[in-house]
Amino acid sequence: MSVFEHNAFDGHEHVAFYQDNASGLKAIIAVHNTNLGPSLGGCRMWPYANSEEALKDVLRLSKGMTYKAAMANLPQGGGKSVIIGDPRKDKSEAMMLAMGDFVQSLGGKYICAEDSGISVENLHVMSQRTDFASGINAKFRYDGSPSDGNPAPSTAYGVFVGVKASVAHKFNSSLEGVTVAIQGLGHVGFRLAEHLHKAGAKLIVADIYPDNVAKAEQEFGAKVVAADEIHAVECDVFAPCAMGASINDSTIDAIKAKVVAGAANNQLAEEKHGEMLRAKGILYAPDYVINAGGVIDIYHQRIESTAEDMRKHIEGIGTTLSEIFTRAESEGTAANIVANTIAEERFLGK
Ligand code: NAD
Repeated sequence: MSVFEHNAFDGHEHVAFYQDNASGLKAIIAVHNTNLGPSLGGCRMWPYANSEEALKDVLRLSKGMTYKAAMANLPQGGGKSVIIGDPRKDKSEAMMLAMGDFVQSLGGKYICAEDSGISVENLHVMSQRTDFASGINAKFRYDGSPSDGNPAPSTAYGVFVGVKASVAHKFNSSLEGVTVAIQGLGHVGFRLAEHLHKAGAKLIVADIYPDNVAKAEQEFGAKVVAADEIHAVECDVFAPCAMGASINDSTIDAIKAKVVAGAANNQLAEEKHGEMLRAKGILYAPDYVINAGGVIDIYHQRIESTAEDMRKHIEGIGTTLSEIFTRAESEGTAANIVANTIAEERFLGK
């Protein structure tokens, strides 16, 4: 397995590997860039087939966090960690304590948050061994209600603000009567559906779990379609809120929406798909810009702040997207490329 030569290594500052024989922990922390501040990113636990797969995932994700933090105007860098193992079978308290030791060993260069397979409760355990676990002192949500440390409500609100800004830019209209197709009704997608419904949008939804769609059908009058059809339905906005790479060579021609704006990380299978969307006249809200509500939430929980400050910061996502769309149009460039350029201007001081 190569590391420095890895095609995802790409400017990383620090990559650390850790093994704790007593608990069975095998983990990698990747710190992509700390020019703007300490790196922050989730810890993902996943049954990776091998360490090469785990390394590729952590490198790709940590780099994405640098761009996300820069575009969200946060004094933070990008990092991520992965634990190799099945969270339902292999996770233990001893393993979470060992992960706390690992995070602590980087001396604050990496702040650990939750991700797939790792809960706020797991972070509480890690915090017995590290000062750099986030989400454990969560005080409030962006709307002033108490927080349990889960950033998904803030992510969903930020995506809602971003969909509103994208629709205003593309159609010069509000969300009233606009049809949004949501792929995935999990922690973020379901809350996004709720915001959109309240704003008068019509919903088409899909999820691989029938319970999630049944609830949206009942509560929001959403139309339900099969998971493999949602990207291709007649609608104004396609909101990918499930896994990554939903815009790829086999889906892109079938997309009928004029706006793609959703929560999922790494929506474009490859950067070229951003240009392909532009060529089809589809406005694309870069994923790491529109889904930054969660990381903004985590930041405000760590500093002296108020719910009002957090809400305003999240609402800034709409302004940032409008700036990206305007610059992309004036330069004749895809929105994902413009977002990358602005982020690099910020964290590399280009
Ligand atoms: P989640 O696991 O709660 O929800 C994902 C949902 O998608 C699940 O209900 C799942 O059943 C469904 N799904 C999976 N495959 C599907 C498919 N092929 N078609 C339709 N539905 C499918 O995750 P989440 O926290 O809601 O996050 C959703 C996305 O947003 C992920 O890509 C995540 O990385 C990204 N994201 C989440 C946050 C956050 O704060 N939770 C922050 C930034 C980005």
